[in-house]
Amino acid sequence: MELESILLPGMEDKRPLIIAGPCSAETEEQVMETARSLAARGVKIFRAGVWKPRTKPGGFEGNGSIAFPWLKRVKAELGMYISTEVATAAHVREALANDIDMIWIGARTSANPFAVQEIADALEGVDIPVLIKNPVNPDLDLWIGAVERIYNAGIRKIGAIHRGFSSYDKKIYRNLPQWHIPIELHRQIPNLPIICDPSHIGGKRELIAPISQQAMDLNFDGLIVESHCNPEKAWSDASQQVTPEVLDFILNTLVIRDITQTTESLSALRRQIDDLDNSLLELLARRMRVSREIGQYKKEHNMPILQAQRYDEILQKRISQAEQMGMDTEFMKTVLVAIHEESVRHQQEIMKD
Ligand code: PEP
Ligand code: MN
Repeated sequence: MELESILLPGMEDKRPLIIAGPCSAETEEQVMETARSLAARGVKIFRAGVWKPRTKPGGFEGNGSIAFPWLKRVKAELGMYISTEVATAAHVREALANDIDMIWIGARTSANPFAVQEIADALEGVDIPVLIKNPVNPDLDLWIGAVERIYNAGIRKIGAIHRGFSSYDKKIYRNLPQWHIPIELHRQIPNLPIICDPSHIGGKRELIAPISQQAMDLNFDGLIVESHCNPEKAWSDASQQVTPEVLDFILNTLVIRDITQTTESLSALRRQIDDLDNSLLELLARRMRVSREIGQYKKEHNMPILQAQRYDEILQKRISQAEQMGMDTEFMKTVLVAIHEESVRHQQEIMKD
């Protein structure tokens, strides 16, 4: 892909690129107060949702058209660039008619190729930066597909936003970071800038700093952070917004490491290892659950746990597979025997019950 910089005129080419502002444009006062405070701290690009895709009806769905004059005031009085989310062709037309400088496509929208295509068609001939959030589901091809649709419409100033992926289990994160996905996106499209959205990944303000640091360690290009003059009272996403003062503090304490070598920094590689180890653990746990189901079946059908022939077959097959993948056969044997032992232990437990 032949991409152009997403930096707007006059902006310094310095990592991280910062986009900040409230989840939603609520009132003229809230927009102006937040923007004034962000501008005073050097933020150049203001974000605010005009149309809000909400999970359930009844939530605040954005002010729509009446919010544009407020954003225009931010631009005229504070000299900030303004950005908002678009989800339909009509949104694109209205945003452009109101001098929006940058738009982003939300996670629910980028999961829908019809919607992305409609937006792409409406963008034909337009020359503003377009940021594409990852789809809610962890599907890299779908994300890349959305990027390609926008690119095919002639847009060259394209960036990606990593905002995490939906999951049933929201123990720590609101949206799981699954860092290996943006890492793989970067491998496939190295010149596509990636901006991290720690607000929507974390879902809690306490997580903004650590997630932003992780993104910087992974050499992301920028951050889009939700910031509100009175976060507790926000009409949407209250728990994840921070005041401009807190945002400034977070940004000032970030450690920005420069890459000195050719490829990724060591910390980026270590993050990959952490992520891969997590996947390994998850896979192993899944494998054990399947073993337990097999144990249940064997119990119901009065079959013995150990079926030597099957075990031998598995062992031989996996070992030669591993060898083809460049791994030592002894090493693989050790791993497989250990996994098998644990699997037998699980089945024994089932039999005992
Ligand atoms: C947002 O940026 O406020 C938003 C709705 O984000 P997402 O599409 O990532 O959920
Ligand atoms: Mn939000």
